[in-house]
Amino acid sequence: DRLRESKVYVRALFDYTPLEDKATPCQEAGLPFKRGDILQVVTQDDPTWWQAKRVGDSTLRAGLIPSKQFQERRLAYRMKMGTLPNPKSPKKPASEGCDKAGLRRSFRLSRKDRQGSSGECSELGETDFLTYEEVTRYQQRPNERPRLVVLIGSLGARINELKQRVIAENPHRYAVAVPHTTRPKKPHEKDGVEYHFVTKQHFDADALNNKFIEHGEYKENQYGTSIEAIRSVQAKNKMCIVDVQPEALKRLRTAEFKPYVIFVKPRIPESRLRRSAATSPGGGEHGRLTDEDIQEMRQSAIQIDQQYGHMVDRVLIKEDSASACAELQGILERLERDSFWVPLSWVR
Ligand code: 5GP
Repeated sequence: DRLRESKVYVRALFDYTPLEDKATPCQEAGLPFKRGDILQVVTQDDPTWWQAKRVGDSTLRAGLIPSKQFQERRLAYRMKMGTLPNPKSPKKPASEGCDKAGLRRSFRLSRKDRQGSSGECSELGETDFLTYEEVTRYQQRPNERPRLVVLIGSLGARINELKQRVIAENPHRYAVAVPHTTRPKKPHEKDGVEYHFVTKQHFDADALNNKFIEHGEYKENQYGTSIEAIRSVQAKNKMCIVDVQPEALKRLRTAEFKPYVIFVKPRIPESRLRRSAATSPGGGEHGRLTDEDIQEMRQSAIQIDQQYGHMVDRVLIKEDSASACAELQGILERLERDSFWVPLSWVR
């Protein structure tokens, strides 16, 4: 029997509640799960209902889950009927353009990047439906290049600061990818250290050739981080940490980089969530923010979670800079030591 045990593991990309599923042949036999859960698929004999167990579930109960094909079919149907929002046309965050309180990064991705790396704004294909992703355990071997660590953050998370802090404490193990810029070099700067200083023509050509994972404009100068810059950090056997707009995730999720994605969101005290809370300056990280700022931060986190949550390996709730840095360091250490679930396509 052990030999026949299924080796198919999937990561659920949606929440499933059998008691709310009208299509199931037997609600009691259903296996509830949440997005991010790892499921061991026991049988795929039936085209509509698979049997699966939840990894880590102490009862090890097997139950029915909708098959990938069936789930895709009904999502396609719901989208056609207009009861499912098209994930490719998300609402713009209400906060765009505003830059007070140092809450957000001061650059924007170019329009082209928002639409996907090749500039297309494609129709949603069946493969885009969030159902399951086949996964396997992966442990980085000592002779292998370190995994890429990708930080994404919602409004107020200050991931760049967090990244710099972790690297400053451990510069021999972690490093940033050196970005390109078209702005003039300052006297104390060295080419290839703070930035690769390039001409506008050079930068535009690189952008056109898709060399950047993301790029944007700031004060009429171009800035961008190249794929090559990540590779050159990894070639030195250091762990490369990048902080990017979540739009860049799709581009980075490759077998080469095996990114470990950490979503950083600021912890918003319960008291600040109520609209009636005092707006006068108080203590703590978010003491000076208005209720409106707080609501924007909350909305930003919700939006990123909805749109990109299925690509996130770990959520880090940032209380303050020091504790978030310590927590991030702990995560990075485990990343080099332990094994993790990764898409099967990354190791085949
Ligand atoms: P500075 O010119 O003072 O070194 O950087 C100014 C700003 O450029 C930064 O605060 C940041 O907003 C932006 N910037 C720096 N590096 C990058 C990058 O790799 N990509 C993008 N899109 N913007 C960057």
